[in-house]
Amino acid sequence: MDNVGSVMYSIVVPVYNEENVIKEFYNRTTAVLSSLKERYEIIFINDGSVDNSLTILRELHAEDSSVKVINFSRNFGHQMAITAGMDYSAGNAVIIMDSDLQDPPEVIAKLVERWKEGHDVVYAVREARKGETLFKRLTATLFYRLIVKITNVSMHADVGDFRLMDKKVIDIFRTVRERHRFIRGLVFWVGFKQTGISYIRNERFAGETKYPFRKMLKFAIDGITSFSFLPLQLAMYAGAIISLMSFASGIYILCLRIITGRFIPGIAGILVSVLFLGGIQLLFLGLIGEYIGRMYDEIKQRPLYIVQEFLGFNQKNNNEISC
Ligand code: UDP
Ligand code: MG
Repeated sequence: MDNVGSVMYSIVVPVYNEENVIKEFYNRTTAVLSSLKERYEIIFINDGSVDNSLTILRELHAEDSSVKVINFSRNFGHQMAITAGMDYSAGNAVIIMDSDLQDPPEVIAKLVERWKEGHDVVYAVREARKGETLFKRLTATLFYRLIVKITNVSMHADVGDFRLMDKKVIDIFRTVRERHRFIRGLVFWVGFKQTGISYIRNERFAGETKYPFRKMLKFAIDGITSFSFLPLQLAMYAGAIISLMSFASGIYILCLRIITGRFIPGIAGILVSVLFLGGIQLLFLGLIGEYIGRMYDEIKQRPLYIVQEFLGFNQKNNNEISC
């Protein structure tokens, strides 16, 4: 399909070293999109891949003008890649999905159906997760349950970034420029008429996960710090509890001395309580540091990502720096 005129669907796909899945992803997604009988674009964001992904994307773009490519100057991360895709999408409905076929393209038809019924955001709820390690499933379950509990945004626990968003939601989302982005939470925060459909998350088609534990942890901390002050408030609660406990034990020691005349020798006790308090103080200092570091990042106002090259976006110049 050509790109002239208005585009109905934009598919936003972040790509990081996915040379073995891109073609299969393209074939399956194109088959589904063609059956919808509307104009579409597939925007691949090459997030600093060091394998052949970019070459494959160039070939696809040369063969099919509905394939567009945003080529980052380096790896900026999954969330930034999605952000760039949303920023440059032209569709009336924008669908975000992973390139590894864990999000089955066939579900697009179901998302579109609900959108046509009048929903502004249709998110895909993972009913089951195939082919993921027990560790990943366990940490994900715990983390999403925790974040739903401690934030005041009504998020759904089993929802990733696979979703359809109406153009009007995308327009609002473009104005949200925070750096440590937790997009799956931000979309719930934006509001509008949202609904979910359930799907089965498949195994990765090929290759390895691009989310090692380190990245998962950073993502989890981004999610919590961008939606909750609870970790900061914990210092206050811990302080109150420890003060109460020390007050109570002070009274106990005094009573013991007055009533029974007994004296509790305390070197070990002093050592333990000093270390305990020192530990707690450092822990909360670190926590405050996390928030301050994030504030510092926001204040610097650097661009969220840097685009080295656009393919298929007629109006864009190559080497444009965008934010
Ligand atoms: N990805 C990306 N940049 C990164 C890491 C991942 O663009 O720094 C892409 C990746 O190519 C895939 C999607 O984000 O399309 C989700 O990554 P992955 O499948 O590795 O995560 P998982 O499903 O294991 O959580
Ligand atoms: Mg995946």
